[in-house]
Parts: sequence; structure tokens; C-alpha cells
Amino acid sequence: MSVPTKWQLVQHWLASADRDTFAPMLEDADTPCCFACGWFSERWNKPTQKASWERATLERAHVIPSSLGGSDDASNVILLCAPCHRDSPDWPDPGEMARWIAARPDRSSKEVEDASDWFVALKQAPEFTALLAKLEAEPGLSDAEAIEKVKGMLWESARRASLHASALSVGTKVAILRDTAARAAQGEA
Ligand SMILES: [Zn+2]
Repeated sequence: MSVPTKWQLVQHWLASADRDTFAPMLEDADTPCCFACGWFSERWNKPTQKASWERATLERAHVIPSSLGGSDDASNVILLCAPCHRDSPDWPDPGEMARWIAARPDRSSKEVEDASDWFVALKQAPEFTALLAKLEAEPGLSDAEAIEKVKGMLWESARRASLHASALSVGTKVAILRDTAARAAQGEA
């Protein structure tokens, strides 16, 4: 027996009497999300529901792990985001998973998290804020021109980062902002 596809899992859990316990964040087939925390990405939306779920960066997680005798039946497999999968209990009693899911804090979308991470990164890179203030004060440079200038510099710095991950970490974002500010300062020297 092989592990069901993501789409098969969604259909199982939408119809399951245990949905509130093991898939409380699953609302409908339209919106792929982590069953435990609700994390989703606007970029997962594809022309069909099936394609959207299959594309979603969600992992198939056993309620009772295979190594502890859990089966590959859809009733024993849920869809979790990577952090939820990592943090969830590997335990022979499904009640532990149920309790863990009930206590899991909600997350918002990947896009909202990305945006709020940039604000956190901005706090840790005061050089970049100083660069923005400087550009704003530069005579003869319109706001639109200043934005274009910063965008170009940010993009160049971002290309130095390793882009293998699906999202940039806060630390990487700080590095990008600091690199942009450093290169701007060099350009003036
Ligand atoms: Zn999650």
C-alpha cells in the first residue's frame, strides 16, 4: 500500500468525521493549506483544485508514524507545512497528535509572513533605513526615481543570496539590506 496523493487525502478528510480533530484548518477543496496551522500561499492556486493541492508545499505526515506501526491509509495521513511536520509528535497514540494540532497557533499566508519578515529584517539593518532617508533627501531625485534605484540595488544584492529555499530567511533578508546599503556607500566613495 502506498501513501495516498495529497488530493486523495483532501477528499478523505473533507468527508471524515474526524476532520475537526485532525484537519481543523481544512475549510474546502478550493484552498490548499496546512491542516494544523492553516498556512497557505497565494501562489499555489492552479486551474484545478487537484493541481493546486498537488502543487502546494505541504508534506504528507503520518498521525501514527510508519515506524510505530501506523498505516498508509488516508485516515492516518494528514497534510502539514514543513515546520508543523517537524514539530508534530511521533507517537503511537493518535490522541497526542490531536492535542498537538488543537494547541498549534494559526499562521497566515506565506506572502504575509514574507512581508512581515522584511519589517523585522529592516529593524536589524539600520544602514538600509539610513540609505532610504538619504535618497529621499537627495535633491533632484523624485520619489519614483529613488524607488527604482533602491529596487535595482536590492535585486543585485538578493542575487548574492542562495535562492534554493522557497523563502528567504529573516537573516538572509537582513544580509540583503546590509549589502545594499554597503554598496550604496561604496558607490559614493
Ligand atoms: Zn502548519
